[in-house]
Amino acid sequence: CYLKVCHTKLKAFSTFSIGESRETKGRTKGADTIVIRTQELLEELVEKARPFSAEGKVADYIPALKDQNPSDLAISIYTLENHSCYAGDHLKKFTLQSISKVITLALVLMDYGEDHVFSKVGMEPTGDPFNSIAKLETHKPSKPLNPMINAGALAVTNMIKGNTGMEKWERLIEFINHMTGDKVSYNEDVAYSELQTANLNRSLCYYMKQHGVITGNVEDLLVLYTKQCAVEMICVDLAKMGAVLANDGVDPESGREIITRDVARICKTFMVTCGMYNTSGEFAIKVGIPAKSGVSGGIMGAIPGKCGIGIFGPALDHVGNSSAGLKLLEMLSDEYSWSIF
Ligand code: GLN
Repeated sequence: CYLKVCHTKLKAFSTFSIGESRETKGRTKGADTIVIRTQELLEELVEKARPFSAEGKVADYIPALKDQNPSDLAISIYTLENHSCYAGDHLKKFTLQSISKVITLALVLMDYGEDHVFSKVGMEPTGDPFNSIAKLETHKPSKPLNPMINAGALAVTNMIKGNTGMEKWERLIEFINHMTGDKVSYNEDVAYSELQTANLNRSLCYYMKQHGVITGNVEDLLVLYTKQCAVEMICVDLAKMGAVLANDGVDPESGREIITRDVARICKTFMVTCGMYNTSGEFAIKVGIPAKSGVSGGIMGAIPGKCGIGIFGPALDHVGNSSAGLKLLEMLSDEYSWSIF
């Protein structure tokens, strides 16, 4: 990945789809100047946003995540012309956690189609925390509200095709590697640590198994789910995945369709309505881009027709979104008028 970062940085930016910042707007500037200025602007905004990490706390319910440095902050932007900019602690690796829910959803939607997938999991946002069991009991017939909460994501992971856990895992990681264009893997310590402590997720699974939402062995499903959540990368890779979604499922690097246009649209819609947990509404007003966060402090953004965003800032707010990452996105969206609304 590091080579990719250097390589893309050196290329001249002939066209630059992210839009113009307030400073460059209306002025004729060379493409290289815009790149350098963007990189400088990102560095400036990272340093402005970094103090907001003090308002958050690193997730500790997955013991292996406790060791993350709360003041880390990194961002990458990956444009649809295949260029990337980055700032802050951009070489730090982090795990996807809930961001992976978007990817597994894309995979099973392409395998089974909307009708089947949405017979098992709903399409409505929730005001409850991501790991809540409450709605599973009150919703009749029992069905997780959407694929971005844990219950819904577990039901989606349960649908990944394969005869064995290993086959399912290989399918998923290959799909992720197609999106990043890099070879990524998972962090075994984080996966194991979550597996040992995932009793809430275990209970969601058993509840859903009783009600026929999921089938098969619950422990096997948890092994696959915790590996999926522990997939590890740097922010440039995350921005690249966002860029594929921003580009209607077509890889800006190879020009190949990785996700169908329709499925990419569904994923981005869920990112808007449910991607930032139970503060997705506030995020839509303040930032206004399709985005998905995870309890590692990662945020993947997909700005349609413009670029993908990868952010990492492990100190989280009360619902589980990166505190400094949110601030950074808010400032950037304002600067580049990124809101899709
Ligand atoms: N692996 C985490 C869990 O299931 C993912 C949750 C998250 O990122 N919100 O608890």
